[in-house]
Amino acid sequence: MATKMQLTNPSAATDNCRYCLMCRHICPVGHVTNLETLTPHGWGLTIASVERGLTTWNTDTVGVLYHCADCGACRSSCVTDQPLPDAIAAARSTVVAQGLAPAGVYRAGELLARWGNPYGLAQPPAAAEKGEVALFVGDDAYCARPGLVDAVVKLLDAIGIAPILVGRGRNNGYLASSLGFPETARQLAQATLDEVVATGARRLLVLTPGDLYTFRQLYDERLGLAWPAHVELVDVTVLLADALAADKLVFTPAATTDAYAYLDPTHTVRAPERADAPRRLAAAVLPGDSKELFWRRERTHPSGATALLYTLPHMAMLLAQDRLGDARKSGATLLVTEAPGDLALYERLAPAQGLRVQGLYELLASQLR
Ligand code: SF4
Ligand code: SF4
Repeated sequence: MATKMQLTNPSAATDNCRYCLMCRHICPVGHVTNLETLTPHGWGLTIASVERGLTTWNTDTVGVLYHCADCGACRSSCVTDQPLPDAIAAARSTVVAQGLAPAGVYRAGELLARWGNPYGLAQPPAAAEKGEVALFVGDDAYCARPGLVDAVVKLLDAIGIAPILVGRGRNNGYLASSLGFPETARQLAQATLDEVVATGARRLLVLTPGDLYTFRQLYDERLGLAWPAHVELVDVTVLLADALAADKLVFTPAATTDAYAYLDPTHTVRAPERADAPRRLAAAVLPGDSKELFWRRERTHPSGATALLYTLPHMAMLLAQDRLGDARKSGATLLVTEAPGDLALYERLAPAQGLRVQGLYELLASQLR
């Protein structure tokens, strides 16, 4: 852990990034804005300049700071593994502490501190059951897409797994960290760690690569919290794809023959090893041609369902529109993905581009034989 904590030193990363152009082409925000300031070296230079006293945190520089999507694409393509997103989150925490962040940041921070989610919905009590397998539900699925959780429970039941539902209505800590509230993030993370450990679970199933990244990497690197070594993190799509390969899951093909594309969820760049599993599942239920986006797998762009939703919603929309445009260019008319935050954005914006969106878990559950 000591090495990683050292790597997350904001000064080291921003100094290393400020004159480097090597990941400039992959940054989604630079891609949609065409602004040099809004590329990885732009953020590095801005933060380093403040630290050197060459400029200050003011409306302009704080505005730049909050444009980063905290998507991880820069670091994932960096040969020296520079934790630039961590450095940006650390700089935001300084700005928050100085009272200089945009109003939307404090509004979201207050909701997270009070309710544990940005929806302002009360969480149910922590799970009281004990068992071998738990499923982290989180805030987006619990508050905005409960049908997704029902679908996953149905799919798991089909392979003989009845997980304990944990983290219902609670943000995993990523959003608070990304906004610049590390202490709130730490409290949310600790609540999840305590709940998981209390269940006695040996496996924690996760619905999205964002959860996987947060638990196995962000807790350690940004919050200094260790994930319990005896609890294995398992991506639900990987578990289901393995069951499919072992003939433990059987699906009836859907009626549509539309060409479709699987959209890798936000944060896939931080867990690219899981990208085959959801494609295998989608292919098992969709008989139409399978298309691929350009920004896929280890170069996946985010949907915009990050802290941007609460700070710069127009930027979140721009990123989602760009992703839908990439999908449209592939020739697909039906889009499939599973992260609830991504789905909410795509479902809102896709009809205007003549595209249909389907939640992967709900689709699979509806085709279960
Ligand atoms: S993350 Fe790596 S590739 Fe990107 S600007 Fe920094 S040093 Fe360069
Ligand atoms: S985290 Fe994403 S948006 Fe931010 S600098 Fe890196 S690639 Fe760009």
